[in-house]
Amino acid sequence: MSTPTEESVLASVPKQLFIGGQWRDASGGGTFAVDDPSTGRELVQVADATVEDGAAALDAAVAAQADWAATAPRDRGEILRSAFETIADRTDELALLMTLEMGKPLSESRAEIAYGSEFFRWFSEEAVRVAGRYSVAPNGATRLLTLKQPVGPCLMITPWNFPLAMGTRKIGPAIAAGCTMVVKPAGLTPLTMLWLAEVLRESGVPDGVLNVVTTKSTGEVMGPIIEDPRLRKLTFTGSTEVGRSLVEQSAKGLLRVSMELGGNAPFLVFGDADVDAAVDGAMLAKMRNIGEACTAANRFIVHESVAEEFGRKLAERMGSMTVGRGVDDDVEVGPLVDSSQRDTVAELVDDAVSAGAQVLTGGSVPEGEGWFYPPTVLAQVPTSARVRTEEIFGPVAPIFTFADEADALRMANDTEYGLVAYAFTQDYARAIRVYEGLETGMVGINQGIVSNPAAPFGGVKASGFGREGGAEGIEEYLETKYVGLGGL
Ligand code: NAD
Repeated sequence: MSTPTEESVLASVPKQLFIGGQWRDASGGGTFAVDDPSTGRELVQVADATVEDGAAALDAAVAAQADWAATAPRDRGEILRSAFETIADRTDELALLMTLEMGKPLSESRAEIAYGSEFFRWFSEEAVRVAGRYSVAPNGATRLLTLKQPVGPCLMITPWNFPLAMGTRKIGPAIAAGCTMVVKPAGLTPLTMLWLAEVLRESGVPDGVLNVVTTKSTGEVMGPIIEDPRLRKLTFTGSTEVGRSLVEQSAKGLLRVSMELGGNAPFLVFGDADVDAAVDGAMLAKMRNIGEACTAANRFIVHESVAEEFGRKLAERMGSMTVGRGVDDDVEVGPLVDSSQRDTVAELVDDAVSAGAQVLTGGSVPEGEGWFYPPTVLAQVPTSARVRTEEIFGPVAPIFTFADEADALRMANDTEYGLVAYAFTQDYARAIRVYEGLETGMVGINQGIVSNPAAPFGGVKASGFGREGGAEGIEEYLETKYVGLGGL
């Protein structure tokens, strides 16, 4: 295949709805624009689904469910494996498309593709490992059989920050388990999911098993699907605010629900830490995806004895990163996804500075087009600053200091969120005390990245519930049925 160009990837990506195995326009013929965050200009128009299109997508998923559940696990797994291979073969094309719609540098897009496609390989292997149990009842009179069956038609709603991986973490296990689905990608970045739908179609996903609906009228189109009694599960990745309202809506049908919500990750650096290793970890935990990650370190909580050294070294590294349009070579930091995201980040920094924080690097909105914000390190941040409690979702590292371990743990847990925490220490006993004491679903010890398709990803508290990846990931798409065998 020839080298992909901006024009070629935008021309070839599907822009319609994918329903019942067919690409089709929205029923009202409507479309909406997808913009390039590095210029603010329109890239393409995609179909704007109506309530009727949403209903048609669910109809297709419901119609396909019984045959899909009866399809051999190996066949379902092979479809995922084939899609995994295709994504790997076409990484350059997808990376360019993803960078155009989302803004992140090509290197970040490639990293997401490697991570996101791995869910297909992982769940292609899990598809054939779903098992039940057989036991003798304690009184010996009956036999107890348990079996796993697919939950049924699922609705999947995904965010813009990882337009591939947030989808594959749901689609992979659903295909492996034998569930059909309607996927609603974020309006800011729908192209990656449309591209993926075509790859899955070519990989052999039967008609109706996967349906993709893009819409600007999200609540209006999703509401009737969520309330339809034929839907059996809702899985959502996005903000805590929207997640809360979706849990309320899903109560009506008592849906199985998985919620991957916001975060406010603490990054602890103890006095005994290897500071250079902590700075390396901080670069990953903060700057992966330009800080637009639910797992992004939001609060650097650093022992007072190493705070100056840590802040200085982190500011040197972050301040020397190359900012620019993600499609350009050597760019390490692209724009934020849209103007409102950039405004939020700028406001949080301004608030911290007016509360007394010291700017070590960055700190102001640059001139020119696009939604850029420079990598920023803030030292001596007072606890009254909004960055302590609010998700930043940008390249800003606020540093708070602590005096002892109990203090550090108390500060780390002082948040409504509980997705992930990071801790750097060379003291083994302290590491155990700390990871046991942190109120989060995930902890990175001496590492700045935890996401791994083979591990259960998910949060506690206002970061949600349910796990994606690992052996746990497929359980979210399976029901346990118990059969009592009597008459012995
Ligand atoms: P968002 O909540 O605004 O949107 C997420 C998705 O929900 C989008 O597809 C959006 O169109 C849809 N949506 C919005 N309103 C809806 C409604 N009323 N009914 C149904 N769907 C609706 O979040 P975002 O801005 O796209 O993503 C950023 C957020 O996602 C951050 O808070 C981040 O922490 C979180 N996130 C969490 C994880 C995780 O795994 N925990 C991963 C990535 C992102």
